[in-house]
Amino acid sequence: MARTVHGELPVAFHYTPGLGNIAFFDALRDRGVLLGSRCEACDYTYLPARVFCERCFAELTPDVECRPEGTLESFTVGHVGIDGEPLEEPVTLGLIKLDGADTVLMHRLMGDGAWEIGMRVQASVEADRTGSMLDLRGFERMSGST
Ligand SMILES: [Zn+2]
Repeated sequence: MARTVHGELPVAFHYTPGLGNIAFFDALRDRGVLLGSRCEACDYTYLPARVFCERCFAELTPDVECRPEGTLESFTVGHVGIDGEPLEEPVTLGLIKLDGADTVLMHRLMGDGAWEIGMRVQASVEADRTGSMLDLRGFERMSGST
């Protein structure tokens, strides 16, 4: 059993998303699209967008719109919250490789829980968006996918 030490440590911070993620969040808010960056030299598309290639350090432009459909690469079901509290409802998180991207995106899986690796999923985007990762509600099974 893991040993834990209980205590309180109040932490407040502002997260700076960086230029690539700003482009990603702006595109998500303004157009409801998932924006990535492509390195032609490496034949590799990053999602969310990056401003440089993590493989060859080339400068990249965040201008690739990835498809809202993708493949479920992995998933897990959480029964315990971030502070160790039991959750009323389990939360399912998936790693999704969107069509046109070479990286995976982690987000909520929405639906009945009958998930399988390799399953086709699609993004569900909020109608009213604020420029947050939660503008993307999560991913749901594509109709007709087994
Ligand atoms: Zn590269």
